[in-house]
Amino acid sequence: MSQFPVIVVGAGAAGLLAAAEAAKAGASVLLLERNLRPARKVMITGKGRCNLTNNTTPEGIIANTPTNGRFLYSAMNQWSPQDTMALLESEGVPLKTERGNRVFPVSDKAVDIVDALVRHAKNAGVRFMQGRVSSLRIEEGVCTGVCLQDGTELDAFAVIVCTGGCSYPTTGSTGDGYILAEQAGHTVIPPRPSLVALESDDPLCAAAMGVSLKNCALQCVDNATGKVIAKDFGEMMFTHFGVSGPMILTVSAHLKEMARGRYELRLDMKPALTAEQLDARLQRDFATYKNSDLGNAFTHLLPHSLVQPFLRKAGVSPRIKCHTVTQEQRKRLVSLLKCLPIRIAGFRPFEEAVITSGGVCVKEIDAKTMASKKCDGLYFAGEVLDVDAYTGGFNLQIAFATGVAAGRGVLGGC
Ligand SMILES: Cc1cc2nc3c(=O)[nH]c(=O)nc-3n(C[C@H](O)[C@H](O)[C@H](O)COP(=O)(O)OP(=O)(O)OC[C@H]3O[C@@H](n4cnc5c(N)ncnc54)[C@H](O)[C@@H]3O)c2cc1C
Repeated sequence: MSQFPVIVVGAGAAGLLAAAEAAKAGASVLLLERNLRPARKVMITGKGRCNLTNNTTPEGIIANTPTNGRFLYSAMNQWSPQDTMALLESEGVPLKTERGNRVFPVSDKAVDIVDALVRHAKNAGVRFMQGRVSSLRIEEGVCTGVCLQDGTELDAFAVIVCTGGCSYPTTGSTGDGYILAEQAGHTVIPPRPSLVALESDDPLCAAAMGVSLKNCALQCVDNATGKVIAKDFGEMMFTHFGVSGPMILTVSAHLKEMARGRYELRLDMKPALTAEQLDARLQRDFATYKNSDLGNAFTHLLPHSLVQPFLRKAGVSPRIKCHTVTQEQRKRLVSLLKCLPIRIAGFRPFEEAVITSGGVCVKEIDAKTMASKKCDGLYFAGEVLDVDAYTGGFNLQIAFATGVAAGRGVLGGC
């Protein structure tokens, strides 16, 4: 056995690659996972298809990482998206690239990715063990092992914490890594849900529940500063609790300090038209349907189930005839079609969040090796770090690249 026993805590995306890489470098690696099976979260990624990376450059990954993307520069240059793809293909998993450079297994089965990662780690000599790490053993500023929940103590030359965040906690990621980090003296940026739907108490949302909108433009304004903090274009939907869909998930990554009413979405449902063009369109429609109810005429502009809630918000009765709509009412309708305000009350809970924002402060981590600057022999990789990206395969790539950097880093000093 190697004289360098390394313990990796958590057999998720980061832990599996960290363990394999440390073993390939000559360490004797024990991979501890609290669940019976490894990588339960990876199994549910990409709706069970696993969008395992994004076929872009390291810079492309960094550009899609709104929180601490630049911290990843070294890790992404050590392990690029193409390295992730080459590894999986060499393990016998054919891949395909879809819209937006999103990479999936040809089989559309996340289990094929998990099996390949486990096989890769086992072939590198990694030993797997079930157990939940409850604390680190730290002696005179050096991490010398871990303590398990059942009281077992294990010695290590180095410990890599890959416990993930705290979203979808039923997969095993319940935020244990934050407790371990704090025990070692690290600052933990308070975790919050990200890539998550948003709650709103605007009655329009619940009333329009189930309505999906495509090709819309969205802005998010921080009412504390009056600044636009995020913009996106695409799809969203109204739900019983508020708003969801791809655009909303992207915007959620920018809402750093949630408080009821602090953030307001402004939805442009007709981004292809200027306000003047839209006004002209309304005038034409109202002339064509002059003896029809406004509510009926509006079904040519908006999805049926959105018409009544929208007109209620505009304060214009759906029952008035189109030829009776005043200029002032028409201006209000144009203004709301171009800029529908939706006050945000909060995030949906961690249980529904694709990722966790916040985590171990990256200023306290060496960006090349993922080594703790607070405690020798201690490393962090994956979502436990205060790094998070948009959807598109970026988050798994971050877990893989930081895992590889940590796995290589543990023996780098020997
Ligand atoms: C529904 C959903 C869909 C997603 N889809 C995608 C996608 O398609 N593409 C993408 O890039 N990203 C996706 N993500 C995000 C991605 O899954 C995560 O960013 C990634 O899995 C993080 O990897 P990790 O190894 O850091 O943590 P995890 O994968 O969460 O692994 C952490 C592991 O540590 C174990 N563990 C925790 N505490 C302990 C402890 N005390 N002792 C021992 N073991 C412990 C856990 O059981 C778990 O197995 C998705 C996330 C969700 C929730």
